[in-house]
Amino acid sequence: MSGTVVMKFGGTSVADAERLRRAATRIVAKREAGNRVVAVLSARGKTTDFLIAEAQEISPNPDPREMDMLLSTGERQSCALCAMAINDLGHRAISLTGSQAGIVTDTSHTKARILDVRADRIRQGLDEDAIVLVAGFQGVSTAKDVTTLGRGGSDTTAVALAAAIGADICEIYTDVAGVFSADPRIVPEARKLPVVSFEEMLEMSASGAGVLQLRSVEYARNHGVRIHCRSSFSDEPGTVVVGEEETVEQPLITAVTHSTEEARVTIKGVPDTPGIAGRIATALAVANVNIDMIIQNEPVSEGALADMSFTVPRSDLTDARAALAPLASELGLEIQTDEAMGKVSVIGAGMKSHPGVAAKVFTTLGAEGVNIEMISTSPIKISCVISGEAVPGAVRALHAAFALSGEGTIRAERPFGEFV
Ligand code: ASP
Ligand code: MG
Repeated sequence: MSGTVVMKFGGTSVADAERLRRAATRIVAKREAGNRVVAVLSARGKTTDFLIAEAQEISPNPDPREMDMLLSTGERQSCALCAMAINDLGHRAISLTGSQAGIVTDTSHTKARILDVRADRIRQGLDEDAIVLVAGFQGVSTAKDVTTLGRGGSDTTAVALAAAIGADICEIYTDVAGVFSADPRIVPEARKLPVVSFEEMLEMSASGAGVLQLRSVEYARNHGVRIHCRSSFSDEPGTVVVGEEETVEQPLITAVTHSTEEARVTIKGVPDTPGIAGRIATALAVANVNIDMIIQNEPVSEGALADMSFTVPRSDLTDARAALAPLASELGLEIQTDEAMGKVSVIGAGMKSHPGVAAKVFTTLGAEGVNIEMISTSPIKISCVISGEAVPGAVRALHAAFALSGEGTIRAERPFGEFV
């Protein structure tokens, strides 16, 4: 089979010289099989973490524009080195920064969104028979500044390029064998899922599954890009993410995901008048803080004050506090925060048409002695905010309760052998 393929290698897959050469060998093998190949690389190993730590050592509040100039260097290193390795294997490779590759973003530094991909230079490289290597996680803004796409953003680079050049598949090579029914570090008997729908994958990425960046899945769904998430250390097939119409039978429950990176903000003394919730949410939105679960307790009597609680990613807590401070002093609100929150979620396309899933989730957590602090649902997801330390036990209990490790017990068989 030959076609156009985008291959993305994560940080652990290019961490040292041997792994980088192995990635180069895989890229070359794809080319030798007759494909046009674009490879997107992440920064090596913990490079991005080191760069962030370096910035924080210099300045408590680094300028976001300069932060992006710094962070974007990690991916450039990987690409230049990989091009050298590919050249040594007797193939022509050209490395490009995100900007050279034509990835145009908005101006929100450190969390930029891709607006357009002007892939002429990539196409030209492919037409000249070269393997094109593109630095992941970065682009150039409409104001001509270097931007980065948020942690894990190389996945989004890969999917965006796959869409732009009409690739047949976007292969995401990573340090795990695919998408699992739960994090195998917590649930050793978790099962590798051969196929997941975009809708399920979106909920999984949004609720803590670290394997694909949320935006990359959104982008893939919107542009119909087929993703194959697989191990860079073996040839085994991984997990293919496809449209729901391509899945034959919907599983009741597909996976249990979790996060221990949640923080809760409680605002006390909220006036019970129209418009206040809007002002609170707007203040957070302007600061680019994503609110997840929201609970508002109605005041007991007319004219009394209400309480409002919501969760945010812990890394956004400082921004959330700063964003709310002016409103708090204007309206006399009291703001409390709790940093050690976690979340468990149960996801499955089949729950749309199946009552009783929530009852089973709550009963299971209750039997584990886990206190549920907040709940939110979507048509295919039930999430519970719980204390951070209760997370591992809760994940194991839910995985067992829905029998997710058993091949074909609750999940129906699916004929996807040809893709995986
Ligand atoms: N290097 C960036 C990060 O560590 C982007 C990526 O790996 O996708 O988040
Ligand atoms: Mg990653």
